[in-house]
Amino acid sequence: MKYVFLNLAFCIAVCIAGAQSKSNIDFETYNPPSSLVVPQHVLTKAKFPFIDIHNHQGNMTAQSLTSLSKVMDTLNMAVMVNLSGSFGERLKQSTDNIKANYPKRFVVFANINFDGIDESNWTQKTVKQLEEDVKNGAGGLKIFKTLGLSVKDKQGKRVAVDDERLDAIWKKCADLKIPVLIHTADPKQFWEPMDNNNERWLELVTRPGRKRSNTEPAPWQLLMDEQHRMFKKNPNTTFIDAHFGWYGNDLGKLGSLMDEMKNIYVEFGAVIAELGRQPLAASAFFIKYQDRILFGKDSWVPEEYTTYFRVLETKDEYFPYHKKYHAFWAMYGMGLPDEILKKVYYKNALRLLPSIDKSLFPK
Ligand SMILES: [Zn+2]
Repeated sequence: MKYVFLNLAFCIAVCIAGAQSKSNIDFETYNPPSSLVVPQHVLTKAKFPFIDIHNHQGNMTAQSLTSLSKVMDTLNMAVMVNLSGSFGERLKQSTDNIKANYPKRFVVFANINFDGIDESNWTQKTVKQLEEDVKNGAGGLKIFKTLGLSVKDKQGKRVAVDDERLDAIWKKCADLKIPVLIHTADPKQFWEPMDNNNERWLELVTRPGRKRSNTEPAPWQLLMDEQHRMFKKNPNTTFIDAHFGWYGNDLGKLGSLMDEMKNIYVEFGAVIAELGRQPLAASAFFIKYQDRILFGKDSWVPEEYTTYFRVLETKDEYFPYHKKYHAFWAMYGMGLPDEILKKVYYKNALRLLPSIDKSLFPK
Protein backbone atom coordinates (compact mmCIF):
# COMPACT_ATOMS: atom_id res chain seq x y z
CA MET A 1 0.00 0.00 0.00
CA LYS A 2 2.82 2.33 0.95
CA TYR A 3 4.54 1.47 -2.30
CA VAL A 4 1.38 2.27 -4.35
CA PHE A 5 1.02 5.62 -2.61
CA LEU A 6 4.62 6.57 -3.27
CA ASN A 7 4.25 5.55 -6.86
CA LEU A 8 1.13 7.70 -7.22
CA ALA A 9 2.86 10.66 -5.57
CA PHE A 10 5.76 10.28 -7.95
CA CYS A 11 3.39 10.21 -10.91
CA ILE A 12 1.64 13.38 -9.76
CA ALA A 13 4.99 15.10 -9.19
CA VAL A 14 6.19 14.15 -12.66
CA CYS A 15 2.90 15.28 -14.20
CA ILE A 16 3.02 18.66 -12.45
CA ALA A 17 6.68 19.15 -13.37
CA GLY A 18 5.85 18.23 -16.95
CA ALA A 19 2.95 20.64 -17.11
CA GLN A 20 5.02 23.37 -15.51
CA SER A 21 7.97 23.03 -17.83
CA LYS A 22 5.53 23.09 -20.73
CA SER A 23 3.75 26.23 -19.56
CA ASN A 24 7.01 27.82 -18.52
CA ILE A 25 8.20 28.25 -22.09
CA ASP A 26 6.54 31.41 -23.23
CA PHE A 27 6.12 32.46 -26.83
CA GLU A 28 9.00 34.92 -26.75
CA THR A 29 11.49 32.46 -25.31
CA TYR A 30 10.54 29.52 -27.47
CA ASN A 31 12.95 29.93 -30.33
CA PRO A 32 14.62 26.59 -31.02
CA PRO A 33 17.56 26.72 -33.41
CA SER A 34 16.64 25.01 -36.64
CA SER A 35 18.11 21.56 -37.21
CA LEU A 36 17.60 21.86 -40.95
CA VAL A 37 20.79 21.45 -42.94
CA VAL A 38 20.60 23.26 -46.27
CA PRO A 39 22.91 25.66 -48.15
CA GLN A 40 23.19 29.05 -46.43
CA HIS A 41 24.12 32.32 -48.12
CA VAL A 42 24.28 35.03 -45.49
CA LEU A 43 24.66 38.30 -47.40
CA THR A 44 25.98 41.37 -45.66
CA LYS A 45 26.24 43.37 -48.87
CA ALA A 46 23.82 43.79 -51.77
CA LYS A 47 24.81 42.32 -55.13
CA PHE A 48 24.35 45.73 -56.81
CA PRO A 49 24.64 49.28 -55.49
CA PHE A 50 21.22 50.28 -54.25
CA ILE A 51 19.04 53.23 -53.33
CA ASP A 52 17.19 52.95 -50.01
CA ILE A 53 14.06 54.97 -50.70
CA HIS A 54 12.77 54.70 -47.12
CA ASN A 55 15.22 55.78 -44.43
CA HIS A 56 15.00 58.14 -41.48
CA GLN A 57 17.79 60.31 -40.14
CA GLY A 58 17.02 62.99 -37.59
CA ASN A 59 20.47 64.48 -37.71
CA MET A 60 22.32 65.30 -40.91
CA THR A 61 25.37 67.23 -39.75
CA ALA A 62 28.64 66.99 -41.71
CA GLN A 63 30.00 64.57 -39.14
CA SER A 64 26.98 62.29 -39.22
CA LEU A 65 27.16 62.11 -43.04
CA THR A 66 30.76 60.88 -42.89
CA SER A 67 29.98 58.05 -40.49
CA LEU A 68 26.72 57.23 -42.31
CA SER A 69 28.39 56.99 -45.70
CA LYS A 70 31.01 54.62 -44.27
CA VAL A 71 28.32 52.24 -43.01
CA MET A 72 26.42 52.61 -46.32
CA ASP A 73 29.56 51.47 -48.16
CA THR A 74 29.65 48.24 -46.18
CA LEU A 75 26.09 47.45 -47.37
CA ASN A 76 26.65 48.65 -50.95
CA MET A 77 24.03 51.36 -50.38
CA ALA A 78 24.91 54.01 -52.96
CA VAL A 79 22.19 56.50 -52.02
CA MET A 80 20.13 56.97 -48.89
CA VAL A 81 16.80 58.79 -49.05
CA ASN A 82 16.09 60.49 -45.73
CA LEU A 83 12.33 60.93 -45.48
CA SER A 84 12.54 62.98 -42.27
CA GLY A 85 13.63 66.18 -44.01
CA SER A 86 11.18 68.54 -42.29
CA PHE A 87 10.64 71.87 -44.13
CA GLY A 88 11.94 75.41 -44.30
CA GLU A 89 15.19 76.22 -42.52
CA ARG A 90 15.70 72.72 -41.10
CA LEU A 91 15.36 71.11 -44.50
CA LYS A 92 17.78 73.63 -45.98
CA GLN A 93 20.40 72.85 -43.34
CA SER A 94 20.36 69.19 -44.42
CA THR A 95 20.40 69.84 -48.15
CA ASP A 96 23.17 72.48 -47.80
CA ASN A 97 25.23 70.04 -45.84
CA ILE A 98 24.70 67.27 -48.39
CA LYS A 99 25.60 69.59 -51.28
CA ALA A 100 28.77 70.69 -49.51
CA ASN A 101 29.94 67.24 -48.40
CA TYR A 102 28.28 64.23 -50.06
CA PRO A 103 26.18 65.54 -52.95
CA LYS A 104 25.86 62.11 -54.57
CA ARG A 105 25.05 59.95 -51.56
CA PHE A 106 21.93 61.45 -49.97
CA VAL A 107 18.49 62.66 -50.98
CA VAL A 108 16.10 64.38 -48.59
CA PHE A 109 12.32 64.45 -48.82
CA ALA A 110 10.34 67.39 -47.44
CA ASN A 111 7.47 67.06 -44.97
CA ILE A 112 4.25 69.04 -44.51
CA ASN A 113 3.34 71.12 -41.50
CA PHE A 114 -0.35 70.40 -40.82
CA ASP A 115 -0.65 73.00 -38.05
CA GLY A 116 -3.33 75.53 -38.88
CA ILE A 117 -4.98 73.41 -41.58
CA ASP A 118 -8.23 75.26 -40.72
CA GLU A 119 -6.84 78.62 -41.69
CA SER A 120 -8.01 79.92 -45.03
CA ASN A 121 -4.50 80.50 -46.37
CA TRP A 122 -3.05 77.16 -45.14
CA THR A 123 -3.13 75.41 -48.51
CA GLN A 124 -1.57 78.36 -50.34
CA LYS A 125 1.10 78.79 -47.65
CA THR A 126 1.93 75.08 -47.62
CA VAL A 127 2.21 74.83 -51.39
CA LYS A 128 4.57 77.82 -51.36
CA GLN A 129 6.68 76.22 -48.65
CA LEU A 130 6.92 73.01 -50.65
CA GLU A 131 8.02 74.92 -53.75
CA GLU A 132 10.73 76.58 -51.71
CA ASP A 133 11.82 73.27 -50.17
CA VAL A 134 12.15 71.70 -53.62
CA LYS A 135 14.13 74.74 -54.79
CA ASN A 136 16.39 74.14 -51.80
CA GLY A 137 17.01 70.58 -52.91
CA ALA A 138 14.20 68.35 -51.58
CA GLY A 139 13.83 65.37 -53.92
CA GLY A 140 10.29 64.41 -52.96
CA LEU A 141 7.55 64.73 -50.36
CA LYS A 142 7.02 62.29 -47.50
CA ILE A 143 3.64 62.09 -45.80
CA PHE A 144 3.76 60.41 -42.41
CA LYS A 145 1.01 58.16 -41.09
CA THR A 146 -0.13 60.99 -38.82
CA LEU A 147 -2.29 62.04 -41.77
CA GLY A 148 -5.34 59.85 -41.33
CA LEU A 149 -4.43 58.70 -37.83
CA SER A 150 -3.83 61.79 -35.70
CA VAL A 151 -3.88 65.05 -37.69
CA LYS A 152 -6.96 66.98 -36.52
CA ASP A 153 -8.50 70.34 -37.23
CA LYS A 154 -9.39 72.90 -34.54
CA GLN A 155 -12.74 71.21 -33.90
CA GLY A 156 -10.90 67.97 -33.16
CA LYS A 157 -12.11 66.39 -36.39
CA ARG A 158 -9.74 63.89 -38.00
CA VAL A 159 -8.32 65.12 -41.32
CA ALA A 160 -8.97 62.44 -43.94
CA VAL A 161 -6.19 61.29 -46.27
CA ASP A 162 -8.28 62.50 -49.22
CA ASP A 163 -9.17 65.84 -47.61
CA GLU A 164 -9.79 68.49 -50.28
CA ARG A 165 -7.45 70.99 -48.63
CA LEU A 166 -4.56 68.76 -49.65
CA ASP A 167 -5.48 68.51 -53.35
CA ALA A 168 -3.36 71.49 -54.35
CA ILE A 169 -0.34 69.88 -52.70
CA TRP A 170 -0.65 66.65 -54.70
CA LYS A 171 -1.11 68.70 -57.85
CA LYS A 172 1.95 70.78 -57.06
CA CYS A 173 4.02 67.58 -56.68
CA ALA A 174 2.93 66.54 -60.18
CA ASP A 175 3.91 69.99 -61.53
CA LEU A 176 7.28 69.83 -59.78
CA LYS A 177 7.73 66.23 -61.00
CA ILE A 178 8.53 64.94 -57.52
CA PRO A 179 7.20 61.70 -56.04
CA VAL A 180 5.12 61.52 -52.86
CA LEU A 181 6.02 58.68 -50.51
CA ILE A 182 3.03 58.13 -48.26
CA HIS A 183 2.50 55.89 -45.27
CA THR A 184 -1.18 55.45 -44.41
CA ALA A 185 -2.58 53.48 -41.46
CA ASP A 186 -0.61 50.50 -40.10
CA PRO A 187 -0.78 46.70 -40.27
CA LYS A 188 -4.42 45.60 -40.19
CA GLN A 189 -3.71 43.36 -37.18
CA PHE A 190 -3.34 46.48 -35.00
CA TRP A 191 -7.12 46.89 -35.36
CA GLU A 192 -7.90 43.27 -34.56
CA PRO A 193 -8.53 41.72 -31.12
CA MET A 194 -5.28 41.19 -29.23
CA ASP A 195 -5.59 37.45 -28.81
CA ASN A 196 -4.12 34.16 -29.95
CA ASN A 197 -5.50 34.67 -33.46
CA ASN A 198 -3.59 37.91 -33.99
CA GLU A 199 -0.36 37.56 -36.01
CA ARG A 200 0.95 40.80 -34.48
CA TRP A 201 0.09 39.83 -30.90
CA LEU A 202 3.72 40.01 -29.77
CA GLU A 203 4.18 43.41 -31.39
CA LEU A 204 1.09 44.74 -29.60
CA VAL A 205 2.31 43.33 -26.29
CA THR A 206 5.75 44.86 -26.86
CA ARG A 207 4.42 48.18 -28.21
CA PRO A 208 0.96 48.66 -26.66
CA GLY A 209 0.71 52.18 -28.10
CA ARG A 210 0.22 50.63 -31.55
CA LYS A 211 -3.19 49.14 -30.70
CA ARG A 212 -5.99 50.81 -32.68
CA SER A 213 -9.71 50.33 -33.07
CA ASN A 214 -12.62 51.37 -35.26
CA THR A 215 -13.05 54.50 -33.17
CA GLU A 216 -9.40 55.11 -32.24
CA PRO A 217 -9.06 56.70 -34.61
CA ALA A 218 -11.10 55.12 -37.45
CA PRO A 219 -11.60 51.74 -39.15
CA TRP A 220 -8.59 50.37 -41.04
CA GLN A 221 -10.55 49.89 -44.25
CA LEU A 222 -11.80 53.48 -44.15
CA LEU A 223 -8.21 54.77 -44.05
CA MET A 224 -7.24 52.50 -46.94
CA ASP A 225 -10.24 53.67 -48.96
CA GLU A 226 -9.36 57.32 -48.32
CA GLN A 227 -5.82 56.72 -49.55
CA HIS A 228 -6.94 54.87 -52.68
CA ARG A 229 -9.51 57.56 -53.51
CA MET A 230 -6.77 60.17 -53.18
CA PHE A 231 -4.48 58.19 -55.52
CA LYS A 232 -7.28 57.94 -58.09
CA LYS A 233 -8.12 61.62 -57.82
CA ASN A 234 -4.52 62.54 -58.71
CA PRO A 235 -3.48 60.37 -61.66
CA ASN A 236 -0.69 62.74 -62.68
CA THR A 237 1.02 62.57 -59.30
CA THR A 238 3.45 59.71 -58.62
CA PHE A 239 2.84 58.05 -55.27
CA ILE A 240 5.10 55.55 -53.53
CA ASP A 241 2.83 53.52 -51.28
CA ALA A 242 5.01 52.74 -48.25
CA HIS A 243 5.22 49.27 -46.71
CA PHE A 244 3.57 47.66 -49.77
CA GLY A 245 0.44 49.63 -48.82
CA TRP A 246 -0.01 47.09 -45.97
CA TYR A 247 -1.02 44.50 -48.55
CA GLY A 248 2.25 42.53 -48.46
CA ASN A 249 0.20 39.64 -47.09
CA ASP A 250 -2.30 39.87 -49.96
CA LEU A 251 -0.33 40.42 -53.14
CA GLY A 252 -3.36 39.61 -55.28
CA LYS A 253 -5.16 42.60 -53.80
CA LEU A 254 -2.08 44.83 -54.08
CA GLY A 255 -1.68 43.81 -57.72
CA SER A 256 -5.29 44.69 -58.51
CA LEU A 257 -4.80 48.12 -56.91
CA MET A 258 -1.66 48.66 -58.99
CA ASP A 259 -3.49 47.57 -62.14
CA GLU A 260 -6.22 50.06 -61.38
CA MET A 261 -3.89 52.96 -60.48
CA LYS A 262 -0.89 53.28 -62.75
CA ASN A 263 0.50 56.20 -60.75
CA ILE A 264 1.47 54.13 -57.71
CA TYR A 265 4.77 52.46 -56.88
CA VAL A 266 5.40 50.35 -53.79
CA GLU A 267 8.33 49.81 -51.43
CA PHE A 268 8.77 46.99 -48.91
CA GLY A 269 10.13 48.83 -45.85
CA ALA A 270 9.52 46.77 -42.68
CA VAL A 271 7.48 44.15 -44.56
CA ILE A 272 10.17 41.90 -46.07
CA ALA A 273 8.91 39.16 -43.71
CA GLU A 274 5.65 39.10 -45.69
CA LEU A 275 7.59 38.39 -48.88
CA GLY A 276 9.96 35.92 -47.22
CA ARG A 277 7.08 33.67 -46.22
CA GLN A 278 5.69 33.37 -49.76
CA PRO A 279 8.73 33.23 -52.05
CA LEU A 280 6.80 31.78 -54.99
CA ALA A 281 3.91 34.25 -54.94
CA ALA A 282 6.29 37.11 -54.15
CA SER A 283 8.67 36.38 -57.01
CA ALA A 284 5.70 36.12 -59.41
CA PHE A 285 4.62 39.55 -58.11
CA PHE A 286 8.12 40.97 -58.56
CA ILE A 287 8.24 39.68 -62.13
CA LYS A 288 4.84 41.15 -62.97
CA TYR A 289 5.40 44.53 -61.29
CA GLN A 290 9.17 44.73 -61.78
CA ASP A 291 9.03 48.36 -62.93
CA ARG A 292 7.08 49.61 -59.91
CA ILE A 293 8.82 48.14 -56.85
CA LEU A 294 11.45 50.07 -54.88
CA PHE A 295 13.91 49.03 -52.19
CA GLY A 296 12.99 50.49 -48.78
CA LYS A 297 13.95 49.43 -45.27
CA ASP A 298 12.60 52.16 -42.90
CA SER A 299 14.44 51.83 -39.56
CA TRP A 300 18.19 52.40 -39.77
CA VAL A 301 19.60 49.21 -38.26
CA PRO A 302 22.44 48.29 -40.65
CA GLU A 303 22.73 44.65 -39.53
CA GLU A 304 19.07 44.02 -40.45
CA TYR A 305 19.66 44.66 -44.16
CA THR A 306 21.04 41.15 -44.54
CA THR A 307 17.50 39.72 -44.30
CA TYR A 308 16.42 41.96 -47.18
CA PHE A 309 19.35 40.98 -49.41
CA ARG A 310 18.87 37.31 -48.63
CA VAL A 311 15.12 37.27 -49.37
CA LEU A 312 15.63 39.16 -52.63
CA GLU A 313 18.78 37.51 -53.96
CA THR A 314 19.11 33.93 -52.66
CA LYS A 315 17.07 30.76 -52.85
CA ASP A 316 17.89 29.98 -49.22
CA GLU A 317 15.30 28.06 -47.27
CA TYR A 318 13.95 28.50 -43.78
CA PHE A 319 16.27 31.13 -42.37
CA PRO A 320 15.48 33.41 -39.43
CA TYR A 321 14.01 36.92 -39.61
CA HIS A 322 15.62 39.51 -37.35
CA LYS A 323 12.66 40.62 -35.23
CA LYS A 324 10.25 38.13 -33.76
CA TYR A 325 7.47 40.67 -33.23
CA HIS A 326 7.26 41.21 -36.98
CA ALA A 327 7.53 37.55 -37.87
CA PHE A 328 7.64 34.40 -35.79
CA TRP A 329 7.97 32.45 -39.04
CA ALA A 330 11.11 31.70 -41.04
CA MET A 331 12.19 33.24 -44.36
CA TYR A 332 12.71 31.82 -47.83
CA GLY A 333 14.58 33.55 -50.62
CA MET A 334 12.97 34.60 -53.90
CA GLY A 335 16.19 34.22 -55.91
CA LEU A 336 15.31 37.12 -58.23
CA PRO A 337 17.22 37.34 -61.53
CA ASP A 338 19.78 40.14 -61.95
CA GLU A 339 17.62 42.16 -64.33
CA ILE A 340 14.85 42.41 -61.73
CA LEU A 341 17.26 42.98 -58.85
CA LYS A 342 18.74 45.94 -60.74
CA LYS A 343 15.30 47.48 -61.20
CA VAL A 344 14.37 47.03 -57.56
CA TYR A 345 17.76 48.10 -56.22
CA TYR A 346 18.19 51.25 -58.34
CA LYS A 347 16.71 51.50 -61.84
CA ASN A 348 13.13 52.21 -60.74
CA ALA A 349 14.24 54.75 -58.14
CA LEU A 350 16.47 56.49 -60.70
CA ARG A 351 13.40 57.10 -62.86
CA LEU A 352 11.59 58.76 -59.96
CA LEU A 353 14.62 60.69 -58.70
CA PRO A 354 16.41 61.79 -61.88
CA SER A 355 18.80 64.07 -60.00
CA ILE A 356 20.70 61.03 -58.67
CA ASP A 357 24.00 60.43 -60.49
CA LYS A 358 23.49 57.38 -62.73
CA SER A 359 27.23 56.74 -62.97
CA LEU A 360 27.08 55.28 -59.44
CA PHE A 361 25.24 52.26 -60.87
CA PRO A 362 25.87 49.57 -63.48
CA LYS A 363 23.93 49.70 -66.78
ZN1 LIG B 1 9.18 55.25 -42.27
